[in-house]
Amino acid sequence: MKIEEIEKLKNEGVEHLPSKERRDFLRLGLVVTGVFAGGSILSLMSAKRGHADVEGIVLKQYSYKPHYSMVIRQDRCIDCQRCMDACVKTNHVPDYGYRTTILERELVIGPGSKQREFMPVLCNHCNRPPCVRVCPTRATYKDKKTGIVRMDIKKCIGCKTCMAACPYNARYFNEEIRAIDKCDFCWENRLSKGETLTACAAACPADVRIFGDISDPSSRVYKLVHEPERVVWVLRPETGTLPNVFYTKG
Ligand code: SF4
Ligand code: SF4
Ligand code: SF4
Repeated sequence: MKIEEIEKLKNEGVEHLPSKERRDFLRLGLVVTGVFAGGSILSLMSAKRGHADVEGIVLKQYSYKPHYSMVIRQDRCIDCQRCMDACVKTNHVPDYGYRTTILERELVIGPGSKQREFMPVLCNHCNRPPCVRVCPTRATYKDKKTGIVRMDIKKCIGCKTCMAACPYNARYFNEEIRAIDKCDFCWENRLSKGETLTACAAACPADVRIFGDISDPSSRVYKLVHEPERVVWVLRPETGTLPNVFYTKG
């Protein structure tokens, strides 16, 4: 589906769409949100901070043990979508939903010369999650031990308030379980069973998605985020959500 068609549908709701179109809409939903909410896609994608200015997106103290985080080395992504496939398989994601997706944009790099750039996105497991703040039944919560933003589907009444509150479109309504579903950093299907990597990180052939405990200074995630001179950014920092998913290049 083309983005112009999707923009036309924006105010009509997506419930009436067949599942393929709805999925396309949801995949592009983050882009549409970026364009409409921020005035420009740039507000979503280019809020970069050099290390010296990293305060404000990185916590002074990591309060969970382990404090799970992901660093996405964005320019290495080749859009093979193996991460998405692994996520769907591991977490039984239906075809109209998603826990992670790959956004794409075209950059003009010179006269007549363009370059495609890919950006994997997933729940940011925000340190200040608006979804948790607005849930009337506490069905979504921040796990006290790991900081992972999780769902208790038994408590979810399907009101979709959390979906509206998430600035990243990271949630969808799962019709089979009649509850909201989202990325849980593979807690239920991998980490709680002793695995150390999420399915998407394990499946990525280009080592784009680095997962680990950012409270541990010897972890790759800590080293990447705190490396002097490295440019690190998060999505939509102006929302004040303090994501635990960081972006960098190289
Ligand atoms: S990205 Fe959205 S769903 Fe995930 S914790 Fe933040 S506000 Fe909640
Ligand atoms: S961490 Fe797990 S649930 Fe989240 S996007 Fe990756 S594979 Fe999906
Ligand atoms: S598996 Fe890695 S390279 Fe492939 S689309 Fe996902 S993040 Fe990009």
